[in-house]
Amino acid sequence: MGPIDSIGPIDLLVAGGGAAGLAAAWAAAEGGLRVAVADRLPRFGTRLRATGGGRCNVGNTAPLPDFARAFGAAERFVKPALAAFWRDRGGVEGWLSPLGIQCRADDGFHLFPVHIGADELCERLIRRLRQFRVTLLPDRPVASVVQNERGFGVVFDTGFPASGSAHALEARSVLIACGGRARPDLGGSDAAARLARPLGHAVTWMGPALCGLRVAEEWCLSLTGISLPLVRAWLEKPPDSEAPSASQDVSRPQTKPPPPAPLSFTHTGLSGPAALNLAGEANRRMALGEAVDLRANFTPSLGPNEWRARLREERRRDGARTALSIARQSLPLALARALIEQAGCADVPLARMTRREVESLSDVITRCRFRIAGTGRWDQAMAAKGGIDLGGVDPKTMRSRLVPGLYFAGEALDVDGPCGGYNLTWAFASGALAGSHCAAMPNRAGVF
Ligand SMILES: Cc1cc2nc3c(=O)[nH]c(=O)nc-3n(C[C@H](O)[C@H](O)[C@H](O)COP(=O)(O)OP(=O)(O)OC[C@H]3O[C@@H](n4cnc5c(N)ncnc54)[C@H](O)[C@@H]3O)c2cc1C
Repeated sequence: MGPIDSIGPIDLLVAGGGAAGLAAAWAAAEGGLRVAVADRLPRFGTRLRATGGGRCNVGNTAPLPDFARAFGAAERFVKPALAAFWRDRGGVEGWLSPLGIQCRADDGFHLFPVHIGADELCERLIRRLRQFRVTLLPDRPVASVVQNERGFGVVFDTGFPASGSAHALEARSVLIACGGRARPDLGGSDAAARLARPLGHAVTWMGPALCGLRVAEEWCLSLTGISLPLVRAWLEKPPDSEAPSASQDVSRPQTKPPPPAPLSFTHTGLSGPAALNLAGEANRRMALGEAVDLRANFTPSLGPNEWRARLREERRRDGARTALSIARQSLPLALARALIEQAGCADVPLARMTRREVESLSDVITRCRFRIAGTGRWDQAMAAKGGIDLGGVDPKTMRSRLVPGLYFAGEALDVDGPCGGYNLTWAFASGALAGSHCAAMPNRAGVF
């Protein structure tokens, strides 16, 4: 790569060469734009390469409405980009097929590339960009983006420009695709917020998401290592709140609990998708000073009423059986024991269980309460809660409503989905939409 001021005029500068930035660069270059992508790390797609344990869970088989709903409060915002991705590119599978990548959902839900891993997927994307003569600028952290009469001046950190203009590079349009703060070792930073704020964009509260939960209940620490394949977990509405403050997420569990997912007990609390998916929202509420409780139904196909009926029926059939012998049919033995203890029931024959004990055990198994004491940190999180405020961005194009020629995509925005390929599909879809819209603009400056 020659000196940066020898690059020549650029139509679109993409800040961030991750999932969203690479998708955007591809779409924009395909549309005929002269594109440059700058990343702060020496390698493009560092986080993308680490996804899905190196296998890259690129998406899932949920139909579009369900897929969009998984983004909670951002559902309406993500819908147009996802709909365009499904309609124009055949979803993530269709989008990857020109790269010679096929996907398969071996478990019927999670889509992974067949035969190749995340690293190779990333290399194929980069190869595609090279075919389109996209200028790749590794090791170039974008420090600021300033509007000027020709579009934008883009300043890079350290050492650039060597000479010439006050800005390292001029571009008619800029896409901010710097991701969020999760995993700084994989490129995570607050750069999106730092670049967007001076241009007038608001940024919502940001905190780690998709990370483990620390819980206050010491009894559950003895269960470390136990994993359950399907648990329904949700955050309880604050008891003293009449109208929960911010996102719809706060009240969502009351009306529509999230689907069951794997849960595991760790030496500090809870992990696995059922817990990880709640971490961002738990963090947000704790930052508001709320006490946050998680409830778990360890037998999601049975509610408290079903458990009551089951215990009564078993008592009728064989009153000499114990609660433990029933509970362990549905739960690992150690968990069954712990829940019986938490319910305040002695492991007595069913015939001797009081009505209150039956109620209490049914409740503990299906609505077990954990007080969240904290979550994983940024260096342990897989995603960020919060980001560029969605009010300033047009969801049909990903362009700024405030600054002509400015675009956003991916996790830089206040959008975060649960585990299961939602976030990568969002990054690809929003990037592809931003890139193709930028290319479709008549003067290619993205003017309103
Ligand atoms: C370990 C791990 C596993 C994951 N697994 C999955 C999975 O299997 N499926 C799934 O859907 N999601 C997964 N995710 C989440 C997923 O990786 C992200 O949601 C997705 O990568 C977001 O894409 P993005 O392009 O917005 O951000 P990123 O992929 O983070 O890309 C942003 C890029 O911007 C660069 N950057 C930052 N600051 C600057 C700057 N100042 N100038 C220039 N460049 C900058 C960064 O170096 C980075 O390359 C995982 C995350 C982690 C951490």
